[in-house]
Formats: sequence, C-alpha cells, structure tokens
Amino acid sequence: MEFVEPQVYLIAESKINFDQLKTMLASVGQETATKWLARTEEASKSQGELLTEVAGRICYKSFGVGLNPNVTKIRESSRDYIDNTLSKGDGSIFEHATCTFAFLNVSRVFTHELVRHRVGVAISQESLRYVRPTHVRFWLPPEFQDKKKEVKSIIEQIEHNYHELENSYGWDKLNFDVKKRITSALRRIMPDGMATSIVWSANHRTIRHVISMRTAESAEVEIRFVFDKVARLMKEKFPLIYQDFEYTELEDKTRSWRPKYNKV
Ligand SMILES: Cc1cc2nc3c(=O)[nH]c(=O)nc-3n(C[C@H](O)[C@H](O)[C@H](O)COP(=O)(O)OP(=O)(O)OC[C@H]3O[C@@H](n4cnc5c(N)ncnc54)[C@H](O)[C@@H]3O)c2cc1C
Repeated sequence: MEFVEPQVYLIAESKINFDQLKTMLASVGQETATKWLARTEEASKSQGELLTEVAGRICYKSFGVGLNPNVTKIRESSRDYIDNTLSKGDGSIFEHATCTFAFLNVSRVFTHELVRHRVGVAISQESLRYVRPTHVRFWLPPEFQDKKKEVKSIIEQIEHNYHELENSYGWDKLNFDVKKRITSALRRIMPDGMATSIVWSANHRTIRHVISMRTAESAEVEIRFVFDKVARLMKEKFPLIYQDFEYTELEDKTRSWRPKYNKV
C-alpha cells in the first residue's frame, strides 16, 4: 500500500477565438463595441471572464452608450459589471465559460459525493471494472493521523486477501470480457478510501455553487480539502467571477469559502 495526497489539476478552460469575436462585435456595435473590446481585453485577466462579460453585454447591447437608445450609461469596469450581475443573481452568463479539472488520488468517498452535483457538469471516472489495481493507494484523513500504522496494517491485510483471491484465477487464459467481470467483482473487496481519478468539467456558475457547498464546515473533509484547492485556483485565475468569495480558516488547515451572493 502507499499513502497519497489528493491532487487538483486545471487541465483546460474556455478560450476565445479573437478573430471571430472582433468581427462579431464590429457587426453588433461598430466602433463603440470594438473600442470596448480593446479596452476590456487589455485589462482582462482571463479569457473565461471576458467571454462571460461579452455574453452578458450582448443582452442589452451595453458595449457603450448609443447602441441601444434605452441605455444612457454603462458600467465601464469589468469588476463593477461582474459584481452587479452577481448581486442581481443573473447567474446564467457564468455558464458560458467552463473549466476542466483532473482530480487524482481521490477516494470513492469523494467521487460519490462529487457526482451528486448534476447541473452543468461532465464527468469521466476511472473504471474499476476495467482497471485492476496492483496495490491500494490511500489518503489518510486528519482523524487518522495518529493511527497511520493501524490503518496501514488493515489495508495491507485487505490487499493480501485481495491478491489471494485474484491469484486463484488463471488470468492468462481468460478473455477480456471475463477479466472485466472478475475485476468488477473483485473491486467490491477494496476499501472505499482507495485512491482513484476523475475528470470533472463544470461551468463557473456550478463551480461557485459546489465550492460553497463542499467547503462548508459541515462538509466531508476530503471534498473540502479538494474544493479548497479549487477555490484558491479560481480566486487567482478568475478574480472577477470569484470576487465575492471570502474564507475562514478551519482547524484542519482547510478553508471554508462563502460567497457574498449565494443564489447566483
Ligand atoms: C454537507 C453535506 C451533507 C450532505 N449529506 C447528504 C446525505 O446525508 N444524504 C444524501 O443523500 N445527500 C447528502 N448530501 C448531498 C446533497 O443532498 C445534494 O445531493 C448535493 O449536495 C448536490 O447538490 P444540489 O442538490 O445543489 O445539486 P446540483 O446538481 O449541484 O444542482 C445545483 C442547483 O440546481 C438546482 N437543481 C438541480 N437539480 C434540480 C432539480 N431536479 N429540480 C430543481 N432544481 C434543481 C438546485 O437549485 C440546485 O441547488 C450532502 C451534501 C452536503 C454539502
């Protein structure tokens, strides 16, 4: 067995096709919109935020005064614009930009909780019907810190029993379908805490919601540990979309993140 730490990788995020965006804005709002893009692009920290703002401003043609006779002034700064949409609960614009994360060395406890979030996500999880583990990799929760030896011994015992049963099959002579069925049966013996991997894509509306729910003090420690990492990454890379998130430091060194605007 091997002790491991959950890992978070942001492996992809929405990017803008600037040629198309410029042509589109010229068509929608001529020079006013083109100048708005030049100003905003320069100040923008992330393409996901810029995309969100473009999508939002399309709604009222609010790239500048004069494009929509009903609009007599606009919010010039992106920070004010995004803050205003968050405060009004106009959450749908935050669905345009997405992030894809790979969560490695997470347990089945974690993945089971993660997949309860249904809206605005895509999920691909390591198949333990197909992937036959050679040993157990395991994250030690804080509650077990002074029980490391005992936990190691329990898992090694499970591994031993697992391999005894596994070795009772003549794997070399089995076709793939039978191997898959036995692998799937065998996984039932492994602990829920066994490390696995999952790729999770979500839009920013969903990421905001899941950070807030899963870093709550009452949330399970592993998912809070992972979504604290997600929150720190999002605050750094998308400072406007997550501008209203504040944290409190918990005893286990994780942070509980709360947004000012909850129902976005
Ligand atoms: C601390 C904690 C403890 C928990 N304990 C338990 C437990 O003991 N047992 C258990 O079974 N689960 C438990 N859960 C899971 C919880 O009940 C939810 O299933 C999970 O958090 C998914 O959140 P969500 O319902 O907001 O769904 P998401 O899929 O994240 O949906 C986002 C939002 O979209 C809307 N929405 C989504 N689906 C629908 C729908 N069908 N109809 C209308 N609106 C919709 C809702 O506004 C929802 O908040 C727990 C969660 C937490 C954070």
